[in-house]
Amino acid sequence: MLSLQPTSEEIAYYYICHTKLWYYHHRICLEHSHENVKTGKTIHESSFKRKQHEVMIGDIPVDMLGEELHEIKKRKSMRRAALMQAKYMLMISGKQKAVIHYYQDKKTETITLTREDRKELEEALKKIVRIVSRENPPAPRKKNYCRNCSYYEICFG
Ligand code: SF4
Repeated sequence: MLSLQPTSEEIAYYYICHTKLWYYHHRICLEHSHENVKTGKTIHESSFKRKQHEVMIGDIPVDMLGEELHEIKKRKSMRRAALMQAKYMLMISGKQKAVIHYYQDKKTETITLTREDRKELEEALKKIVRIVSRENPPAPRKKNYCRNCSYYEICFG
């Protein structure tokens, strides 16, 4: 039985691609072997080597440094997804502030959670449940990101 409590990755994928969200939720997990994902994981594991404190909120691992959450992303090109993922983690953790580190761009961004964000996320959560409850994935729609996606061969191969 698959969980219907969305993970923070599922929030990000909702904003990137609904097809990817469906595959990821249904454990069609090419993600672990894909080069981009491996690189991201290595960076994530080494970035806060000395001071990282990962805690679980439900099933969701969250990096906490004091009162701040920290999220590490490759670049700002997926900014909207990164923002909403971090805001979701603020929502479930009750923390006030999150810092997103874009390691390739060498930039950081500090965010908070507004009432509008909360409303948007609540809507997104309902839609995510509807998408992942479908029997089949939503039809893929080609976008710039697809070439970097681990599901490219399934969608367009
Ligand atoms: S290849 Fe493109 S359409 Fe297919 S899952 Fe990835 S992002 Fe979505």
